[in-house]
Amino acid sequence: MKFRTKSIHVGEEPNYKEGGTGDAVVPLHLATTFARKEVEIPTAGYEYSRSLNPTRKAVEDKFAAIEGAKYGLGFSSGLAAESTILFALIKSGDHVVCIDDVYGGTQRLFRKVFGEKYNVEFTFVDATDAQLVADAIQNNTRLIWIETPTNPMLKICDIEAISTIAKAKNVLLAVDNTFLSPYFQNPLELGADIVMHSTSKYINGHSDSIGGAVMCNDDAIYEQIQFMQNSVGAIMSPFDSYMVARGIKTLGLRMEQHQKNAMSLAELLESHPKVNKVIYPGLASHPQHSLAKKQMSGFGAMISFEVKGDINNAKNFLEAVHHFVLAESLGGVESLIEHPAIMTHASVPIEDRVKLGISDTLIRLSVGVEDLSDLEQDILQALDKA
Ligand SMILES: *Cc1c(COP(=O)(O)O)cnc(C)c1O
Repeated sequence: MKFRTKSIHVGEEPNYKEGGTGDAVVPLHLATTFARKEVEIPTAGYEYSRSLNPTRKAVEDKFAAIEGAKYGLGFSSGLAAESTILFALIKSGDHVVCIDDVYGGTQRLFRKVFGEKYNVEFTFVDATDAQLVADAIQNNTRLIWIETPTNPMLKICDIEAISTIAKAKNVLLAVDNTFLSPYFQNPLELGADIVMHSTSKYINGHSDSIGGAVMCNDDAIYEQIQFMQNSVGAIMSPFDSYMVARGIKTLGLRMEQHQKNAMSLAELLESHPKVNKVIYPGLASHPQHSLAKKQMSGFGAMISFEVKGDINNAKNFLEAVHHFVLAESLGGVESLIEHPAIMTHASVPIEDRVKLGISDTLIRLSVGVEDLSDLEQDILQALDKA
C-alpha cells in the first residue's frame, strides 16, 4: 500500500468476522477494563486500558504504517513520548548528544528534568555539522537526539551521516520528525533507530489534540519503550487516539497543499523589498537546499523570515495579518504566525538567541491549507503596513 491508502485503511479494517459490527471507522473505546469469560484468557488480548486499548491500538498501527516502521506507540503529548524514550533507554550517568536549537520544551525536559534531577549528562552541538556530533561522543554516550529541519532556523541535519556515526560508536539515534511529518521524511530509512513526533502538529493537523508518537523497528527497543509507556502511564487517551486516527487520513492531502502554499509564499517573500531574508528549505538560497532535496521528499510548510527595520516593524506586520492566526504551535490546517524572540523562544537566553540567529525581526509562519491567493494578498497588505 502507498502512503494515503495506508493512512486511511491501516488499523481500521472493519471487524465483521468475530461477531463485530463492521464499523467502517474505529469506534471510540472508553472502557477502562475488559471482561473475560475464562479466568486465564483476556478477551482478544485486552485487560486494562492503560496497557492496551482498541482505539489506541488502531492509531498506533497507523503510526507504524505511515512511518514505514514495525512498531508504533501513542503518548499523551510529544513531551510524554520523549520522557518515556529517555526513561526507557537512559539511566543516571549516561550521556546524550543533542542538537543545539532543539525544540524549547525538549531543551527544558533534558536540562531541567533529566539533567538536573536524574544526573543525565547532555552536550548540545550544532548537528548540521556531523563531525561536531562525532566529536561530542564520549564513552558513556547512549543516545543522539536530533531534529531536522530545526525550529525556527530550519537548519537541516544529515540523518544518514549522523546514523553512520551513531552505528560506528554503538549509540542510538533518535529523530524528532515533527516538522515534516512522515509524508515528507522517514528517518528510519536513513538509519535512525527511533522516530518521535508531536502529533499535536501535522499528524493530527487540526490544532485540537495534544499527543505524541514513537516509531521504531528494533524488537528490543520497542519492548523497552512499550514497557516504560505502561509503567509511567503516559498513554494517548482513547479520544485523542480517535481524533488522531481521523486526522491521519488526510495527512498526505494536507501536506501537499501545505507545501504548495509555502513554496509560493516563500518565493513571494523573497522577492519583496520589505523583506530582509527568507529561510525555507525549498528555496535555492537555503544553505542546505541540496541536502534537503536528498533526504526529504518535500520541504514542509514552515517559513522563517526577517522584515526590514526593527522589532516595531515586525510587530506591525504581526498585528496586520488577517488570515494568519497570531499564536504559538504549528502544523494545523489554519495558517499561524508568531514572533520567536517574544513568543516561542522567549525563554532562550538572549546571547543564545543571537548565536542561533533568532533576531527581533524574525517571524515564523506555519503555512496552512487555505486558498493561496487569500494568503498572498494578506501577506502583501501586511507588508505594506510593516
Ligand atoms: C510541539 C513540539 C514538541 C512537543 O510536543 P507536545 O505535543 O507539545 O508535547 C516536540 N518537538 C517539536 C519539534 C515540536 O514542535
